[in-house]
Formats: sequence, C-alpha cells, structure tokens
Amino acid sequence: MIGKTSVAKIVSMIAVFVCILSCVSLFAYAEENDVHGAPDAIPEGAKRLIEVYPEQSLRYVDGQIIFSDGTAMIYDDGKSKSFDEKLDQSDIEDMFSLTYSLAEKPGYLQDAGRSRCEPFFKKMYGNSKAEVRKQLVSVPWFGKRVKFTKVNGAAEQLRKVAEEIERDYPEMKKYMESSGTFVWRKVRGAERMSSHSYGIAIDIGVPFSDYWQWAYGKVAETAQIGYKNKIPLEIVRVFEKHGFVWGGRWYHFDTMHFEYRPEIVYDLKE
Ligand SMILES: [Zn+2]
Repeated sequence: MIGKTSVAKIVSMIAVFVCILSCVSLFAYAEENDVHGAPDAIPEGAKRLIEVYPEQSLRYVDGQIIFSDGTAMIYDDGKSKSFDEKLDQSDIEDMFSLTYSLAEKPGYLQDAGRSRCEPFFKKMYGNSKAEVRKQLVSVPWFGKRVKFTKVNGAAEQLRKVAEEIERDYPEMKKYMESSGTFVWRKVRGAERMSSHSYGIAIDIGVPFSDYWQWAYGKVAETAQIGYKNKIPLEIVRVFEKHGFVWGGRWYHFDTMHFEYRPEIVYDLKE
C-alpha cells in the first residue's frame, strides 16, 4: 500500500517531468521559428493578401508568397523604383507603397492601387484571355448583365454593390450604366496589362466621367495635373465597402473605373 507522502512525491515528480518536457518543446518551437521567420516578420501587405484572398490559400515563407500549388513569388525584389517603374515593374511589395486615401482631392502622384504585380494577378485570375474568360460569370447590373470573374468572390461583391445602390440610392441609376468590364488589353499608352484583363474591373457612367488622359492628353506620368470628378461619392462608398478601389481617388484620375482590390481598401473595412 502506498502512503499519502509517496503519492505526493510521485505527483510532484510527474509535475517536474511535465515541466521539463514542455520547456524542451518550447525551445524546439523557438528554434523552428528562427529558421522559418517569426510570425512578426511577415510584412503587412503579405498579411493582407493572405486575409483578403482566402480562396488562394496563400502563405508567406522566407520572403515569398506561396500559392496552394507551390508556385512561389518574391514579395520584395529589393529594387528601389521610380514612379513609372512602380507601375511598369511592380513586385508585390510595391502594390502597398501608397496608402488609399479618402481625401477630397488626391495628392501629387497618390495612385494607390495602380501598381499591380502582373504575375500575381495572372496567377489568380488567368494567364491568358481564354483562361480569364473561363472564370467569368454574369452579374445583374441595373437592368442589364455584365461579365465579372467569380475568382476571389469578385462577382459576388459586384452583385452586392448593385443590390445596395438599387436599394439605397435608386436616384443614382443614371450613373450606373456600364461601358465595359472584361477586356484583355494593355493600359492605354503603356505596356502593362489593364485590370480589365482579369475580369475584376468595371467602368460606369461614361457621360459623367473624367479621365486624366482625356483632360491633359499625352503628358508624362509625373506631370502636374488638376483634378476633376462628377461621380457622386455615395456610389463610390458602396463600391469601396465591398472591396473596390475607385479610379477617382487617383492623382491620375479615372472616375468611371472601379476595380476589386480588397487589399488596397483594407483600412476602410467597417
Ligand atoms: Zn476601367
């Protein structure tokens, strides 16, 4: 028969043993984190991508964004770039170099969302016209229908935008006619792909629209230009709430243009 004291001894020995075991495993954990980068080392932009595009099952490992099929993309190429280079040769990190601002007039060269890392978008939405087209679905749009990608829930968010504007701002209908969504093409006057190529962008209200190149012609991207807009902000706020960037927030304004970029309007989440 074991006495009370012996029981107490055994219990305390077990407790010590468990304590030693957990200390050892804590050390092992810390070491593993050192090798693979502590969670704190994940850049803010990478965290956002992982959060807003759950369908992609993205991971950040050793300075790379990893897709579920193992495709890896360098997060930051380490190059310091001019304004033009950030548009034409954007890596993933460059997409986050500007903050999306709700200022009444965009500041000089404040174009948050205009930099797009092309391989990243092609990987998500399709590498060719045919590949992107396969992902398009039809979304009801103010009495008509428009094509939008179903990838990342973009079409679903666009459907919610239409529903909310129809319900809360029926008087805004005249601004809502779409002049286009999916077109596989390059940005006017540039070599990079337009976001319309991925089925994530919609142009609306052309008769009420302003575009910097219509207003100022072919000037350098870094030229000083003025600002114009006739699109009501009530409409804009509904789009933004559902993850869309508005081209009217850009110094290089394109006020008909809305684009599904939840990583850029991230801070506006309610
Ligand atoms: Zn557009």
